[in-house]
Amino acid sequence: MKKIGILTSGGDAPGMNAAIRAVVRTAICSGMEVVGIERGYQGILDKSFRPMGMRSVSDIVQRGGTILRTARCADFVLDECQYRAIENMREIGMDGLVVIGGDGSFRGAQALSNKGFPTIGIPGTIDNDLAYTEFTLGFHTACNTCLEAIDKIRDTSSSHDRFTIIEVMGRHSGDIALYTGIAGGAEMIIIPEVKQTFSEIKKSLIEASQKGKTSGLVVLAEGVCTADELMKFLQRETDLSIRATVLGHQQRGGTPSMRDRMLGTQFGYHAVSLLKKDVGNRVVGISKEKIVDYDIDEALAIPRKFRKDLYKMANVVSQ
Ligand code: ADP
Repeated sequence: MKKIGILTSGGDAPGMNAAIRAVVRTAICSGMEVVGIERGYQGILDKSFRPMGMRSVSDIVQRGGTILRTARCADFVLDECQYRAIENMREIGMDGLVVIGGDGSFRGAQALSNKGFPTIGIPGTIDNDLAYTEFTLGFHTACNTCLEAIDKIRDTSSSHDRFTIIEVMGRHSGDIALYTGIAGGAEMIIIPEVKQTFSEIKKSLIEASQKGKTSGLVVLAEGVCTADELMKFLQRETDLSIRATVLGHQQRGGTPSMRDRMLGTQFGYHAVSLLKKDVGNRVVGISKEKIVDYDIDEALAIPRKFRKDLYKMANVVSQ
């Protein structure tokens, strides 16, 4: 392979820049040229291409977000757009692509590979919702961001004898809530993977208060309900002092943690090593502290495994 492209797509995640840097420098060191594609798949259709030299990725390893910008491109599900994208890339001599993004972005990468354009996926999403890899890029930093907020909210909650519901990101995956709930010492964790009715939540909080807890934190994944809905129900149905906080988009940003910088660098380095061997249609990931790669079709077909063991442990240590 002589010339490869790189893009970031879907939701941004801290560590994407570390991956871009690793891809660019590894490829150049292997004798390849690198083209940066701006704003995800939309950028291929718009021909928003820029050459990436060694120095184009200086001073970015520590920056959140993505220097290539990201976007959603609804039309990319269409065969016609995918063929046009391949044409645009081939026109400037590109013969391989690295896509950094989540589940949706990987569907785009799969489509390009199936149509004959070798593409490698790097999992970049704070949600940690890709089953084939133990961790995705950005998850660790997002959890640390939540933890900082959770610790501060705990101070004020305990001073006021109050229970606070903290809504974190995660529509289908409760991993941010699960991990930050455990690490932040939450009294209760509410996630889409474990169905709980509002009445059951109320019962658990009343029991906690009867056991002597005068304050506490409830970490709620956004996919279950809004913090406001749950707060209003609990205010109506109990005598407890209840508040709600939504952490929102701050979870996506910020300086990547050591772990996400390492992961981004390792993923980027590994992705280029595959393209160098003319291998496409793969996604990279981490398993048991080792960088691994899988066929995209197989990786996307793996059903998500929920860490029941961690959830069970959380219920014990929060007593
Ligand atoms: P994420 O990659 O973070 O999951 P999205 O689900 O929004 O984010 O997907 C990002 C982009 O990937 C979409 O805007 C679209 O361009 C592309 N994409 C998503 N699903 C498909 C699909 N089934 N086929 C082709 N491209 C897709």
